[in-house]
Amino acid sequence: MTTSPSFATLPLSEAMQANLQALGYAAMTPIQAASLPITLAGQDLIAQAKTGSGKTVAFTLPLLHTLDTKSFAVQALVLCPTRELADQVTTEIRRVARAEDNVKVLTLCGGSPIRPQTESLAHGAHIIVGTPGRVLDHLGRESLNLDALQTLVLDEADRMLDMGFADDIAQVVAHCPKQRQTLLFSATYPEGVDKLARRFMRDAQEVKLAEKH
Ligand code: ADP
Ligand code: MG
Repeated sequence: MTTSPSFATLPLSEAMQANLQALGYAAMTPIQAASLPITLAGQDLIAQAKTGSGKTVAFTLPLLHTLDTKSFAVQALVLCPTRELADQVTTEIRRVARAEDNVKVLTLCGGSPIRPQTESLAHGAHIIVGTPGRVLDHLGRESLNLDALQTLVLDEADRMLDMGFADDIAQVVAHCPKQRQTLLFSATYPEGVDKLARRFMRDAQEVKLAEKH
């Protein structure tokens, strides 16, 4: 993997720097180096970079940056196209979040019974990772409330559109506060993804590192 400057150039805590080192992340990948100065400053971002380029860490650091673990409200939501990807993202967020105190990450995907998810939500979570349909289901049941959301991540936006999630995403976004940071990550950038971005983001910075499709 091509690498860029060290994470030490970023405004991250010493504990976070040490944890990134421990995870073997010595240098930033190009998408991390290009996006983190923007996202850690709180700006919206549209990012395109190929699969395997380290996009998960690129959105995990800004969402942890604004997290207040003393509050048990949901403060970040990551929408993913599939359960498999949601599980991978949850695992990676938990690894990166080890540097912080007791960050609670919950995965909400279809194909699992809803009641245990509802019970887990009742105990509180800081970060939700899930598929659009199941997240919307919880919003409709009022087992999930996004009034305190600070960061919305649309991960693998191209695949979510391919899978027909545009309407579900729009309905989830309608439950999010207008004042928030929105980060969109995608391996490709077809017209549909551009439309989605224009719909939900304002004055977003763009970092596109991969070939256009
Ligand atoms: P993408 O979402 O772009 O497909 P991932 O976030 O899944 O990519 O990351 C791909 C792999 O790269 C993962 O195994 C991850 O642990 C690793 N990785 C992420 N950031 C770094 C880094 N700065 N240095 C080395 N490896 C990294
Ligand atoms: Mg990814």
